[in-house]
Order: sequence, then structure tokens, then C-alpha cells
Amino acid sequence: MTQLLPSPPLSAAAHVKALLASYPDFPQPGILFRDLNPVFADAAAFRALVDELADQHRGQFDAVAGIEARGFLLAAAVGYAANAAVLAVRKGGKLPGTVLTEEYDLEYGSARLELEVGQLPTGTRVLILDDVLATGGTIAATTRLIERAGYTLTGVGVVLELTDLNGRERLGTAPVHAIMSV
Ligand code: AMP
Repeated sequence: MTQLLPSPPLSAAAHVKALLASYPDFPQPGILFRDLNPVFADAAAFRALVDELADQHRGQFDAVAGIEARGFLLAAAVGYAANAAVLAVRKGGKLPGTVLTEEYDLEYGSARLELEVGQLPTGTRVLILDDVLATGGTIAATTRLIERAGYTLTGVGVVLELTDLNGRERLGTAPVHAIMSV
């Protein structure tokens, strides 16, 4: 009798490839919007993403900084999986108290990001997480916030990198891990 072997689990990249949705001309003409919500909505895919992001930088971070809003989903899960602190990097005007602010350009438009000061000790090793690396402006601004707050950036993790936009060139020397590049 032939016995069927269980199929090996899909890699995180294979999950993203299978589930990623693309919307031309959203939110404005000329932008090909990459929607990762179908990947987050699949339990096995989401677990694979979180495991890979945590494993790639394992032992190298004490805190994860998630960028509003989809970066929050990743940061909460990776922080839990890696027993790390979680920092919320928010869009402008949403945080109370003493905040650091950085203005930056987006693939479409411009924006402002903020971080509350004094949440963690100086020198805390931080991993930045977001869904998509496009022009790199968002992660470059977050890097400046992390450094101005006195923390040490030790890595960047994204689910998807849009290589045509050369976002990596705007980032510093910390290792950048993309689960998938298109
Ligand atoms: P950027 O600053 O250009 O690297 O843009 C990164 C941020 O904007 C990420 O938080 C993404 O969520 C979003 N973003 C930029 N371009 C796209 C795109 N083509 N599809 C989906 N999200 C995008």
C-alpha cells in the first residue's frame, strides 16, 4: 500500500506569492497597490511571516518598532514570539506627551511619523517592521526617530520589497530582510 507523505509546510515567501493581491491605480493613478491583507487573513501564512521575521533577526533585538498601521500587526506578533518590547511608530498628531517628529515623502504624497520619548533605556536594540518597503522614505524616517530616541537600530524586516523603487538605498547599514521582493 502506498503511503502519502504529508506535504512540507509552505515557506513564508510561497504564502506571500500565492496570496498577495495587486490593485492598479490605487489609491491614485500610476500606483500599483500591493495588498497584504489576504496574507494576514490566512492563519498559516501569517504564522510563517511572523516566524521568519523573528528568526531572521533572532538574538539581535530587544524591541520591535511597528509602523502604523500594518506594521503594528507584525510588531505585536513578532514582539510576542520573540519576547521583545513593542514600540508604536504613529502617524502625526496621535501621540500624547513628548514626541519626536519626522516628516518624509511617500511614493504618493508626504507624511509625518512620531515616537514617544523615554519608553525604553538608551541603547535598546530595535528591529523596525513594516509591510512594504517602497521608496524607503517611511523606514528612513522611522530610523531617524529610533536613533534620535537614543536606541540602536539592529535590523529592518518587511514582508514585501518593491525593488524598482530602490528603497534599500535610502536606508542605513542595518541588515534589511524582505520575505519577498517583486
Ligand atoms: P515608502 O515610504 O515609499 O517605502 O512606502 C512604504 C509605506 O507605504 C508602507 O507603509 C506601505 O504600507 C505603503 N506603500 C507604499 N507603496 C505601496 C504600494 N505600492 N503598495 C502597498 N503599500 C504601499
